[in-house]
Amino acid sequence: MIIAANLKTNLTRIKTTKYINEVESFLKKNNISQEVLVFPATSSLNLHSGSVVVGAQNAYPTINGAFTGEIGYEQLEEFNIKTILIGHSERRHLLGEAQEKLVEKFNFYKNLGFKIIFCVGEPIEVREEGFESMMEYISKQYEGIDTLYENLVIAYEPVWAIGTGLTPTSEDIVAIHQELKKKSQAPLLYGGSVKVTNAAEVLALEGVDGILVGSAALYAEHFCTMCQYA
Ligand code: PGA
Repeated sequence: MIIAANLKTNLTRIKTTKYINEVESFLKKNNISQEVLVFPATSSLNLHSGSVVVGAQNAYPTINGAFTGEIGYEQLEEFNIKTILIGHSERRHLLGEAQEKLVEKFNFYKNLGFKIIFCVGEPIEVREEGFESMMEYISKQYEGIDTLYENLVIAYEPVWAIGTGLTPTSEDIVAIHQELKKKSQAPLLYGGSVKVTNAAEVLALEGVDGILVGSAALYAEHFCTMCQYA
């Protein structure tokens, strides 16, 4: 199982240091050997520790260069970051990242051997059109991605479930994951309003290889509990 925390633009470096230390000691104390990933804000990327893998929420497909406001491979390498989230819904929808740019990022970081957590998921209006339209929409998000890449992880996160407290039914998650498994054998995470009260149930579903957690992961204690469920 893979248990991942996306801290987004939350927590200062001081708080993230405390957070990672807390998660680390919990994993050690409880002998938890699951794959635990934490994606902190860029200012905390140097907080590398032992069993918690620190990853980048985003990066530009470049070694370095004139890309104001971005971070490139050179900066990630300095902190020994080898894991990256690509295509999160907030980047696709709030920051307008197009599929072509995501494919460019994917290829760039794939060539450098990064573990890539590639996010897909439909907005509510597509969901309301029915299962077929939804799968068609999600299929387009796979276009250009090497689904056989050995360091690929897919995260299915319905846009309407992110940060809203809404989740698909367990039957829906199983049905969608079953379809997505036909596209790629890569580990498949579910994300979108996973919290302490539903994490165990989600993790037990067929075709779910882990979870990607946002808001509910902001408290180390809650995140630790979810790691324990895995
Ligand atoms: P959420 O976010 O857990 O707050 O819904 C998940 C995510 O954005 O990855």
